[in-house]
Amino acid sequence: MFNLILFGPPGSGKGTQSEQLIARYGLKHLSTGDLLRSEISRQTALGLEAKKFMDKGQLVPDEVVIGMISSALDEHPDARGFLFDGFPRTSAQAEALDKLLELKNTSISVMLALDVSEEELVKRLLKRGETSGRSDDNNEQVIRARIVEYHNKTAAVADYYKQFDKVVMVPGEGSIAHIFDSLCKEIDPRMAEA
Ligand code: AMP
Repeated sequence: MFNLILFGPPGSGKGTQSEQLIARYGLKHLSTGDLLRSEISRQTALGLEAKKFMDKGQLVPDEVVIGMISSALDEHPDARGFLFDGFPRTSAQAEALDKLLELKNTSISVMLALDVSEEELVKRLLKRGETSGRSDDNNEQVIRARIVEYHNKTAAVADYYKQFDKVVMVPGEGSIAHIFDSLCKEIDPRMAEA
């Protein structure tokens, strides 16, 4: 199995690149943001609870997202690999993910971390808010809160994987096609080895 984490702050292009990566490599896309938004639109108890945090730009509690990922992994026993997008976002989530993958006799192959400047992130998110229909994208205060959560809780996840030498930084500014190329250059040799 080949399991990839696409990492980076909100607005770094994880969703956009994920769509192209899963098409090229046949991985199963697991985006906790998408899973949570689907829970909200179906008005489930989990969705209603999660929405309170998401509307403020705060992270949803670990046990909620870990439970969601655990079920999603079980739903796809035949996947050739997973692309994790927006997960893990805390060290506790990273440790839980390692354990879940270990139970399936697999592990994270690599974390590709998109590097984008903070001003570019805010600009992109506000622009996305014009069309995405996401209430957390069209309010600058909520966007800034999401970036603060990233620095306080999520950036440390890269340090967690650095101890296993699994992190590769990829410049996340420039054309979508060029960034995609840079990601593929990192994935191809690793996938050939897997
Ligand atoms: P995203 O679509 O990845 O930008 O996520 C949107 C929002 O969903 C975030 O601001 C969080 O409130 C919540 N969320 C998504 N993924 C996670 C996660 N792994 N842990 C906690 N909260 C999350």
